[in-house]
Amino acid sequence: MTIFAVANQKGGVGKTTTVVNLGAYLGALGARVLLVDCDPQANTSSGLGRRLESGGLYDVLVHGASASAAIVPTAEQGVDLLPAAAELGGAEVQLLEGDRPNARLSDALSSVQGTYGYILLDCPPSMGLLTLNALVAADAVIVPVQCEYLALEGLARLMATLQRVRDQSNPRLRVFGLLMTMYDGRTLLAQQVAEEVRRHYPTLTFDTMIPRSVRLSEAPSFGSSILDYDPHSRGAEAYGALAVEVASRVPAFYSS
Ligand code: ADP
Ligand code: MG
Repeated sequence: MTIFAVANQKGGVGKTTTVVNLGAYLGALGARVLLVDCDPQANTSSGLGRRLESGGLYDVLVHGASASAAIVPTAEQGVDLLPAAAELGGAEVQLLEGDRPNARLSDALSSVQGTYGYILLDCPPSMGLLTLNALVAADAVIVPVQCEYLALEGLARLMATLQRVRDQSNPRLRVFGLLMTMYDGRTLLAQQVAEEVRRHYPTLTFDTMIPRSVRLSEAPSFGSSILDYDPHSRGAEAYGALAVEVASRVPAFYSS
């Protein structure tokens, strides 16, 4: 069982798209997968047609509700979801009033994690207490990197933040992989950014790159992953390849 936080403090880089579609393809490979929507925007939940009016992860983190009671099935094979509602946004303040404010998610997942081969935590685009809960619960971080100007600078900042979390709160935490997203090979900038990231982080960067694909951005409005929406599109093939690459990297991750 591996708990992945899909994190990057920058918004719009493909975190949610990666959680939904990597999750769907890991499920299709035969794994049991749990997606946890840690973002008050609840895009993972709505993208799977499961957005809540209230409750979900908020009740688990703030009121100590059991994770298993909050988990719902999805239409994707093998994939369950711990959904979010907008009220999760209030959790950051309320968590500070309780015990172990950054370990609430970790504690909540301990009772269900044996059921799953992979747990993917979709983080909000900030380094607040919700992201911190995800990083304390996780073993491994997947960082989506958009191929754009100054990507490397943002990445260096994120790496420093992860180091701090490792030192202070979660010694197990390690970066699992950097994923180039929205890659448009026709632009020189995208090629240069991808090359630069690979040169700085040669072993951490996934071989798989996710191309820019309109089909990937359309799928959420149908409440489905790209695997259901358009499995022959280039974006679908890329997330399929990523799932295989992630599964194949797990043994080396734990032995290194
Ligand atoms: P984040 O969760 O990091 O904020 P999202 O996954 O929500 O980012 O992606 C931001 C926007 O870009 C969304 O509208 C999404 O549909 C779109 N998007 C994500 N990945 C791709 C891609 N590879 N090609 C085209 N659009 C994408
Ligand atoms: Mg998101």
